[in-house]
Amino acid sequence: MTTPIQEQPLEAKSPFELRVNLGKGVPESDVRSALATGDMGFLHSFTTGAAVDGPGVRVVAWTAGCMWRCVYCHNPDTWTMSNGIPVTVARASDELRKYRQGLKVMSGGLTISGGEPLMQHRFVVKLFTAAKKMGVHTALDTNGYYGEKLSDDDLDVIDLVLLDIKMWDPERHRKLTGMDNGPTLDFARRLAARKRKVWLRYVLVPELTDDPADIKQVAAFVASLGNVERVDVLPFHQMGMYKWTKLGIPYTLEEKKSPTNELVEQTIGIYKSEGLVTY
Ligand code: SF4
Repeated sequence: MTTPIQEQPLEAKSPFELRVNLGKGVPESDVRSALATGDMGFLHSFTTGAAVDGPGVRVVAWTAGCMWRCVYCHNPDTWTMSNGIPVTVARASDELRKYRQGLKVMSGGLTISGGEPLMQHRFVVKLFTAAKKMGVHTALDTNGYYGEKLSDDDLDVIDLVLLDIKMWDPERHRKLTGMDNGPTLDFARRLAARKRKVWLRYVLVPELTDDPADIKQVAAFVASLGNVERVDVLPFHQMGMYKWTKLGIPYTLEEKKSPTNELVEQTIGIYKSEGLVTY
């Protein structure tokens, strides 16, 4: 007997578990209604114990659906919403409640990542609202493209935004991700104007995102905002490569190596030279 999709286990060992077609049986009308109300979302998985997706030890809800196509994406199975498990806000909140005490003890919280969480912004806001009611710290990991969907009140239930800025040069950004970076930069400015806490995440890929002049522009912009508490330079790795192969999506980075320690240190140095706390 097959497990009904609403009862598929949510917990994964890591976001690198390949998950496909879990929501395929959900009628299109249900998907539309879920997106409109936010009462149901589509999740790739829940993982626990993450210490790199915000402060402390965290539960991470990985959402399905992303409108970008970054050439270095580690999780292409999260691009399609129908690869996610349909989950009500109530079920996701129950899952979170199990960890509430531990998260408090370990100064952690809930991070919603993806995919791109703001593809399902109403669900995200409802889940964060439930988390805040439990006294759980909330963090949103986003490329910021749909930041304008969030009202100022919505922003108030998000304690921290982990913002990905992938590249400064607009043309190269389009080649890297398929999309413009203007909306991301606008969202960064709005978060600054509202004095919301932000951590910048910068994926470092040799010969793709390692141009010191471009990084310097990102760093200067981020430093000018005044609300970015820290920068995390994330070295590219190949842990997601097998997903591209299994999904039959052409992957262009098979030969790409992770950045050397020297390149990572040099990149961290550029951010630090703008006065930013950088790891
Ligand atoms: S924004 Fe994130 S999830 Fe979307 S394609 Fe880029 S790396 Fe992948």
